[in-house]
Amino acid sequence: MKIHQIKGYIQSLYLVEYPDSLLLLDSGCYCDFPIVEDFITNNLKREFSDLKLVLISHTHPDHAGGAWRFKKAGINIAFKERMDHWYLGRRGFKNYWIDILLTWYVAKKMKRPFKNIFFKRRIEADFFLTDGTSVPGFPEWLCLDAPGHTDSDMTFYHRESSTAYVGDNIIKLRDKYIIPHPVSFPKLYRNSLEMYLNQGIQNFLLAHGGETCISKEELGDIINRVPNTAIDNSDILRQLIGNFKKNLKKSSR
Ligand SMILES: [Zn+2]
Repeated sequence: MKIHQIKGYIQSLYLVEYPDSLLLLDSGCYCDFPIVEDFITNNLKREFSDLKLVLISHTHPDHAGGAWRFKKAGINIAFKERMDHWYLGRRGFKNYWIDILLTWYVAKKMKRPFKNIFFKRRIEADFFLTDGTSVPGFPEWLCLDAPGHTDSDMTFYHRESSTAYVGDNIIKLRDKYIIPHPVSFPKLYRNSLEMYLNQGIQNFLLAHGGETCISKEELGDIINRVPNTAIDNSDILRQLIGNFKKNLKKSSR
């Protein structure tokens, strides 16, 4: 088994390579589909159809945005049941737009070009994933419920190498581990991090921050910093608008 890190629009995707198959950990943004296709056919010199499954950790644009394109190309996709309900209804529609705007904001900060990241809010899974079961077709990978960032985050754990893809549950920024935004369910989020401790996970594949070893002490420190109240993305948007107004005032002085 070999794990390749692919640089997506604002995040890393991980492609797990086996002699007879490929497994993709998160589908990336809508615009990341050709990047993965190019990596498989030109870097690995393999057939695109060797990609047997795309796992989705949660529904945010930089994780589930490309799912529909993989599905359309005939690749199976899998996620936790009801994951794609997150953006339904009036509140879901509002959150969809906020998350699209926040993704563009991060892209701008990272000096990435403006790209189309709109994606279907509802997608049909080929497989639903459940806690404690193995990934369809890849029995050495385990699905673990790890909610809190959203209501249906999943972590994908390769026990033999003690390596887990944790989506957005831990973010590494300038050598520091930070808590993702939003944390919609702080209690669940804390439990998810404690679950990482109990599982004894050592190597973490982060969507934002690359591959890293996190010690029990470092994980404990992150757990201690989990807020008691939810941080939702309207709070983040308000904060960003506030900063923007402040900067505007400063520059006009
Ligand atoms: Zn996220």
